[in-house]
Amino acid sequence: MVHIIDGNAVAALLKEDLKSKIDTLRDSGITPGLATVLMSEDPASKTYVSMKQRDCEELGMNATDIVLDPTSSPEELHSTLDTLNSDPDIHGYLVQMPIPSHIPEQEFLFHIDPLKDVDGFHPENVGLLVSGNPRYKPCTPHGIQKLLESINVDPSGKDIVIVGRSNIVGKPLANLLLQKSPGGNATVTLCHSRTHNLANKTREADIVIAAIGVPEFITGSMLSDGAIVIDVGVNRVEDDSEKGYRLAGDVEFDSASKKAKAITPVPGGVGPMTRAMLMYNTIHAASLQSNIPL
Ligand code: NDP
Repeated sequence: MVHIIDGNAVAALLKEDLKSKIDTLRDSGITPGLATVLMSEDPASKTYVSMKQRDCEELGMNATDIVLDPTSSPEELHSTLDTLNSDPDIHGYLVQMPIPSHIPEQEFLFHIDPLKDVDGFHPENVGLLVSGNPRYKPCTPHGIQKLLESINVDPSGKDIVIVGRSNIVGKPLANLLLQKSPGGNATVTLCHSRTHNLANKTREADIVIAAIGVPEFITGSMLSDGAIVIDVGVNRVEDDSEKGYRLAGDVEFDSASKKAKAITPVPGGVGPMTRAMLMYNTIHAASLQSNIPL
């Protein structure tokens, strides 16, 4: 019988643990503060930002919601980031991805104060992660590591195939699972659109992690019996429902769940963990900036 990994339940436990850390900070006069910068009309991006704001409110953290016109110039975005960098009440912030194509990504990332970079995308934080000394673990990869831990699956020595090599999921996840530390020590194969014989690789894996952005791409026939399957994908697929769409992962749940030992659902798997790890990083950022150990 397949085990459906309940990301909402794991995230709720984690948030309970975070509350005591917030209390410790508050006892010293610090309330962790997160800002989100939205520069897009994309409905999914708007939803993600409002969920992050809601998480902060639920935990009693300060939340600041900045909305920039999608046509704003790179200079306007940089000036917003400079303001956030110098605001002592904002301990962490993120720019909701994707950003408009006229904004050069590598330029704006350099404008983020690395100590406030709770997404972990600033090149300094990427370098710290790759060199095995992460300051802020990127939220989705860290959430996946915690999900594996929650079902007592130790990546050490396991063959893990990640499909997708983006800077926000696939690459940092590969680095995290490779670390010579608890939650790491896996043998990682990182696949992408140029990978040959993908199904042969996924069929060899103990753990398959899909971060592709193509609905239901990974099917049961691509998995070994008893594989652990982590589905990162969140895709809106049009249908006749009132909303006009349904959410689908990158894994075909029905066929995959017949082969897998454990699998994350979409929604309710990786998504809630990503948000919980953002809260974790913001609290960690507040601790670092105020010199209050947690
Ligand atoms: P990107 O579009 O940045 O990357 C997709 C990756 O998938 C690329 O590396 C691409 O290869 C690879 N790919 C695309 N098509 C194929 C194919 N046919 N065969 C093999 N590999 C393929 O996506 P993201 O990493 O940003 O996001 C991936 C998914 O995860 C999306 O559905 C997104 O919405 C979701 N997501 C969910 C989060 C959550 O918290 N649940 C957080 C972040 C993302 P190549 O590099 O060669 O183009």
